[in-house]
Amino acid sequence: MSEYRHILLAVDFSNQADFVAEKARALATQHQAKLSIVHVLDNIPMPDAYYGTVISLTENSDDPLLEAEKSKLMVIGEQLNVELSNRWMLWGIPKQQIIHVAEQQQVDLIVVGSHGRHGIALLLGSTANSILHTAKCDVLAVRLK
Ligand code: AMP
Repeated sequence: MSEYRHILLAVDFSNQADFVAEKARALATQHQAKLSIVHVLDNIPMPDAYYGTVISLTENSDDPLLEAEKSKLMVIGEQLNVELSNRWMLWGIPKQQIIHVAEQQQVDLIVVGSHGRHGIALLLGSTANSILHTAKCDVLAVRLK
C-alpha cells in the first residue's frame, strides 16, 4: 500500500472545519505523515498585498481582522500539533493558493471538505471541485452534509 508522507489540510474556519481536520489528523497518524495546514484569506481586504502573498504568523499587524484569522489558524495548528513552519496563510483565491502550497511543499494528499462557507448549492463545493480537477496529487474530499 502506498503511504502518504505529507498531508495538507485546507481549513476555511466554517462550522464543519473541525470534522475535516479530524480526518486529516487521523490519516496523518495512520501514515506517520507530516501534516500541514493552509488557510487562504479571501474575505478581508488586503490593499498592499498581491495574490499569493504569504502572511507571517509571527509578526503582529495592526489589522484586527487579520489578527483574528491568524489566531484561528494558530488554534487549529495547536489542536492538530502542526509545527509552526507547516502552518500557511496566504492572500488570494483559495483553489489557486491551496494548489500552490501543495506543489511547493511536495504534498502527496490534500484534504478538503466537500463544502465550506460557500454553501451546498452544488454537489461539490467550488473549491473542492476545482482542487480535484487540478491537483497533481491525491485529494480527499470529506463528505459534509
Ligand atoms: P467550498 O468550495 O467553499 O464549499 O469549500 C470546500 C472546502 O474547500 C472547504 O471545506 C475547505 O476544506 C476548502 N476551502 C474553502 N475555502 C477555503 C479557504 N479560504 N482557505 C482554505 N481552505 C478553503
